[in-house]
Amino acid sequence: MSTPDPGAGAAHDDVVTGPGTTGGAAGAETPDGLPGVPDGFERLWTPHRMAYIGGQDKPTDAHAGPGCPFCRIPTLPDAEGLVVARGRTAFVCLNLYPYNSGHLLVCPYRHVADYTDLTTDEVTEVAELTRTAMRVLRAVSGPHGFNLGMNQGDVAGAGIAAHLHQHVVPRWGGDSNFLPIVGRSRALPELLGDTRDRLAAAWPPPGATPATDADLKG
Ligand SMILES: [Zn+2]
Repeated sequence: MSTPDPGAGAAHDDVVTGPGTTGGAAGAETPDGLPGVPDGFERLWTPHRMAYIGGQDKPTDAHAGPGCPFCRIPTLPDAEGLVVARGRTAFVCLNLYPYNSGHLLVCPYRHVADYTDLTTDEVTEVAELTRTAMRVLRAVSGPHGFNLGMNQGDVAGAGIAAHLHQHVVPRWGGDSNFLPIVGRSRALPELLGDTRDRLAAAWPPPGATPATDADLKG
């Protein structure tokens, strides 16, 4: 397979754990005379996002199977596929190209493109997983709001139009700035693998869909 594995975390770890996220190694790559303390600029290095802009993980066609990231991800181990939770008909994974830390995708296992293609069971489970995703994100990272939604079709902005996926994007006050417009990238302070671990640990066990945020925390 020539394209990078969208579930593999190793390629990201190499760079995201570098200067800026730990603070300890910041001076090592900083030329003398330039600021050597970790700051926000160092976190602009988001190669997973840049890979997406380059189209490296875009499916080559609209068919189901290993060429489709959302068909392939559930076949991988959770940590490798950045899978946070698995339901009966749908699963939850981290977006490899997040707009914010904790950006989740809720996807049916079936390779279907259009929301009207979903069965009643799939509609129900995608909705339930979306609701639980919001509760888990609130418990773990306390976002102030969310963007929820699906882009249907290339013309509507779907990056992988052939396999339906619902975005769950946590939002914090002040998280939106000039970067997405000017730089087409976001500052992401947290490693994707670490985010997955935290969310998966907080996710309720199968069949224990929480009725309230408090149920989840308890
Ligand atoms: Zn697919």
